[in-house]
Amino acid sequence: MPPRIAIIGGGIAGLSAAWELRPPAERGAIEVELFEASDRLGGTIHTDRGLGGILEWGPDSFLARKPEAATLARELGLEPSFLPVHRGGSYLYLKGKYVPFPPVGPTGLPRDLPSLMRSPILSPMGKLRAAGDLLLPRSREVRSGKDVSVGDFLGRRLGRAVVDRLAGPVAGGTHLTDIDQLSVRSVYPELLRLEEQHRSLILGLRAEARLHRPARAGSPAPSPFLTLKGGLETLIEALEKQLSPVLLRKNAPVDALAPRPEGGYLLRQAGSLHPFDATIIAVPAPGALAMLSPAFEGLRTVLARVTYAPTMVVGLAFREVWDRPPFDRAGIMLPQGTSSILAGVSFPTRKWGYEVPGGGTSVRAYVNKHRYPVLAKSSDAEIVAQVLPALRSMLGISEEPIYTRVFRHPAAMPEYRVGHGELVTRIRDAAARYPRLALAGALYEGVGISDCIRSGRAAARRARDALGP
Ligand SMILES: Cc1cc2nc3c(=O)[nH]c(=O)nc-3n(C[C@H](O)[C@H](O)[C@H](O)COP(=O)(O)OP(=O)(O)OC[C@H]3O[C@@H](n4cnc5c(N)ncnc54)[C@H](O)[C@@H]3O)c2cc1C
Repeated sequence: MPPRIAIIGGGIAGLSAAWELRPPAERGAIEVELFEASDRLGGTIHTDRGLGGILEWGPDSFLARKPEAATLARELGLEPSFLPVHRGGSYLYLKGKYVPFPPVGPTGLPRDLPSLMRSPILSPMGKLRAAGDLLLPRSREVRSGKDVSVGDFLGRRLGRAVVDRLAGPVAGGTHLTDIDQLSVRSVYPELLRLEEQHRSLILGLRAEARLHRPARAGSPAPSPFLTLKGGLETLIEALEKQLSPVLLRKNAPVDALAPRPEGGYLLRQAGSLHPFDATIIAVPAPGALAMLSPAFEGLRTVLARVTYAPTMVVGLAFREVWDRPPFDRAGIMLPQGTSSILAGVSFPTRKWGYEVPGGGTSVRAYVNKHRYPVLAKSSDAEIVAQVLPALRSMLGISEEPIYTRVFRHPAAMPEYRVGHGELVTRIRDAAARYPRLALAGALYEGVGISDCIRSGRAAARRARDALGP
């Protein structure tokens, strides 16, 4: 019998593991089975292609600077479907006004001092405080290797206004963790590196900007994000189609996993027991905890320490075509700590050029995660009724939407809190005690799609190597 590997979880991490293990003739003899609890693959990656045009439930793109997603898409023959940002830029909604957000890098910081100083987002006092970074010594924490929050680190170097109005909206939107709890070491190690190398972040960012200047002055900067024509689910559909040799089981929640005395694992699904030589767990921590038998006590203890943030996205379409601000940019962010029901807004029609059937404007409204516990008990219609007035007031519109969908994510993302790196090391160490068990997903190497693909493919190689020659 060929060795058998089980993959539990059919999100992008599990599917990437399956793709890595797909059997080319020469490697051949491994049998792979993937178990997915729901009736569809893709997990958080889910595209609605209804009357609002293309509206993403979860992610709408992948970062171009991280190669794994583009590499996987190329391997699947999807390069002709790559779609760069159609119209970028965003506004910060500050005291009822749309303030253009300066061009920033992935950490939410502008690349150089002049663009920070030109930006109307900071008051003159805020700018003066930010410039204090030029004089400050390196942080003690960084030198000692300690983790601190992104908010504390940036607040010390550049002042609170930069945290609340620049880095907070970007980091909060990407990580769903408050910037004052978000681990700088796990999420933005490049900030620590800049401080270590240049002492001042502003000087460091300027030096990096010089290095990354486009080859020809005036040539357009490449799109920082990419998606796929037809929406991100195109990636999942291609995987599902081309992974046919791998057994993909949908509606197949694994409810128990236990080590076998003779080696390998026994997996229980709908009352049936399935033996496997190796197992890859690619589900979020609560799902893993629910299936791991008491034999995994050490691993269970550390997994139980992971917390998840919820979110909700409301997709809407309007018949009207708007071009005035704020609809002339890709979206709107709100300052860190906003009390609004909205955490941000994007315009897929503008950002990606997606059309609403029959013409119009599509909108994605991100609901403030702090409102989730109350809203979760409401029906979709009640949620739309609560979001719409805030949205209308922010966008300056009074029209009725022609299409609405509520996309719920009760455990959207693992929170990368201060000390996350250490927690992941403890989880990995605990898992290492179980031979031929590999872990993958948004918890380990970053929450982005490329991070999950890297994590899934690495887990697949670990599981395969553990089987021996
Ligand atoms: C609103 C939102 C917006 C985002 N935007 C972006 C973005 O623009 N760009 C970006 O790069 N990233 C973004 N992300 C992050 C990214 O989408 C996720 O981190 C990533 O998709 C997670 O993939 P995963 O495979 O680890 O987990 P998941 O997608 O959660 O997949 C896990 C799968 O396991 C299944 N499962 C659970 N329990 C069991 C069980 N017992 N048995 C079998 N199967 C089980 C689940 O049904 C699910 O399909 C966003 C996330 C959210 C929530």
